[in-house]
Amino acid sequence: MAKLELKNLNKTYTSKIVPVKDVSLTVDNDEFLTLLGPSGCGKSTVLRMIAGLEEPTRGQIKIGDVDVTYKPAGDRNIAMVFQSYALYPHMTVYENLASGLKLRKVPPTEIKQRVAEVAEVLGLAELMNRKPGQMSGGQRQRVAVGRALVRNANVYLLDEPLSNLDALLRERVRADLKQIFADQKVPVVYVTHDQTEAMTLSTKVALLNDGYVQQLDPPELIYNHPANLFVAGFVGSPQMNLLTLPCKGRYAILGNFQVPLPNIPTVPPQIVLGIRPENVRVAQPGDTQTIQGQVYLVENLGMHYLVSVRVESSQTEAIIVRALLPTDQNWSSKNITLTLPSEDIHWFDVQSGHALVRRQMLGARG
Ligand code: ADP
Ligand code: MG
Repeated sequence: MAKLELKNLNKTYTSKIVPVKDVSLTVDNDEFLTLLGPSGCGKSTVLRMIAGLEEPTRGQIKIGDVDVTYKPAGDRNIAMVFQSYALYPHMTVYENLASGLKLRKVPPTEIKQRVAEVAEVLGLAELMNRKPGQMSGGQRQRVAVGRALVRNANVYLLDEPLSNLDALLRERVRADLKQIFADQKVPVVYVTHDQTEAMTLSTKVALLNDGYVQQLDPPELIYNHPANLFVAGFVGSPQMNLLTLPCKGRYAILGNFQVPLPNIPTVPPQIVLGIRPENVRVAQPGDTQTIQGQVYLVENLGMHYLVSVRVESSQTEAIIVRALLPTDQNWSSKNITLTLPSEDIHWFDVQSGHALVRRQMLGARG
């Protein structure tokens, strides 16, 4: 049982199409890593290079101590689940699950046993004689995962396996996947553009954009300590408020209000203040750091209202702060005072986009 290592991977299709510029990461044998990023950012390309379906232009792929960069796909013992299920329509569930093992000349008694085990885990035991056309999307997806699981592979790769399912089913199969891989003993790499899947399933998330890993961290750190503006804006729904503000003295100027800057060596002319809508509160008596404004839009999200507030300002450009507020009040058109708790504020450099304050927790991480 061995870890998977990607070193300085690059994939150049043409001088204009370079989806993977420089990607390095490690997935240990008890880790579930998600490659998260917008459509077209190179996630599948990375996965296909790991699987051996695509040759890297530069870089190295290792499984344990073995360099597999140029090994044929069939020699890597990697199991992959595709978005499209890739089941054989004319075969029963049993035959679909067994076919990969038959090809590998696994003895029939062992095939039977492994298929039975996996069918049990995936709740497919009752469906063994059905064909894909006689099953629901969720059941088919389970068979596709089962085809990978029977393999005893060295590495599991899953490419957007839930994206063909409707929302409810996606939630159920997502929970199933979490249980199935709960005590896995080999590296798992899961590709998705869906941040909820990344947050719920992974032990580690690699957020990809522009050919590079923007941040590689456990989901909690990705969410609570985004390393740059891209991460801050991509992860979290509703999206984090990101306000570009002028600085004056030790303050950022937010409309008619002043927000104390963090401890940074030099004060730049401008700075980006980030705060998640769920961290913005209605001010209570005694709160410092409050801003006033007027509600101009209320969106009902069921559990909360997403309230957009135009902050009081003598400048012409409107500053909008969005807050998740309780549904027991009617916020429409009201004047409102909000609190931006300083411990929930993220600060970013306008030019580089980098987070300006490395939290102690991050420093202690080694
Ligand atoms: P993702 O999985 O993140 O949505 P992909 O890895 O599939 O993205 O694709 C990344 C980029 O590389 C896209 O712009 C895509 O059009 C391009 N691409 C993928 N495969 C090829 C190919 N064989 N030839 C040229 N360009 C490709
Ligand atoms: Mg893809």
